[in-house]
Amino acid sequence: MKINQNNLFIILFLFLVTTTFGVQETFAQFYYDEINHRLTQNPVVCTLEFSDPNLPQANQILVNEAKMAVEDWEKKLSDFTGNPNDWAFDFKVISTKDQQSILFDYDCEITIRFERESPPEERFEYVGYTDLYPFGISDITIFYLELAYVYEEKLIDGQWWNIPVPSHYVNSIDPFVGETLRHELGHSLGLGHIPPDSERSNWDYDSQGIPVGKSIMIEDLEDFPPEGYFEIRPYDVQAVIQWYGDDGFSDPYKFLWESLAGLLVFGGIAAIVVYVTRRRKKGKEI
Ligand SMILES: [Zn+2]
Repeated sequence: MKINQNNLFIILFLFLVTTTFGVQETFAQFYYDEINHRLTQNPVVCTLEFSDPNLPQANQILVNEAKMAVEDWEKKLSDFTGNPNDWAFDFKVISTKDQQSILFDYDCEITIRFERESPPEERFEYVGYTDLYPFGISDITIFYLELAYVYEEKLIDGQWWNIPVPSHYVNSIDPFVGETLRHELGHSLGLGHIPPDSERSNWDYDSQGIPVGKSIMIEDLEDFPPEGYFEIRPYDVQAVIQWYGDDGFSDPYKFLWESLAGLLVFGGIAAIVVYVTRRRKKGKEI
């Protein structure tokens, strides 16, 4: 692209818009990427029952893992603010029979589904992902087979670490599936990823000296704490509280204006599309 005066103006304008949004970002001090997603009421979390003939116990274990992940977020948010009602989640299991109905998830804000492996073209790239929709709706997909790793030695900050690199799947449940669930629920709550600042700052140490990820929202396997683990950190809890306010998501009218503004924008675009189409039709008639 050649840069003439017009282009320069557009670039400057985009830069200004970006900078303004950057400054207004509510939890900029926590360095989370912005995803602009927010629950509009106490969420109903629906976990979809499934059957896996190769791992018959998977359904029961994973539904329970999902429940524990939801309860972990709920407890940590409630403990921090001292009010459990403000951060209440409703946990539901949708039977395979009920999933036959096309409206099975009509009252679920968050839907969790489990699949054995990620698609071949994305193999080892994802252990889970979250699709975000307007009005605080989201769908979480978790790939639950255990990954086998090969370890590569890497010098970080003057110390040698064994860094795991995924190699293939094993027919057992990923021992880190609970961490993945907590991470994806973080997206459903409105948290983006924490970009790694430097190799060193991606983990802290717990009271036993074991490395623990500095945030549940770290994205890359490369940034995982070597020989350590992940959990929802006070850092993550504070970011959610800053995003919703101390009184949580219990008040369905709190973000009503935001939802209505979103609806108006969608409506506005729809109206413009309809308008343009009609004009074109008229043009053809002439
Ligand atoms: Zn993520």
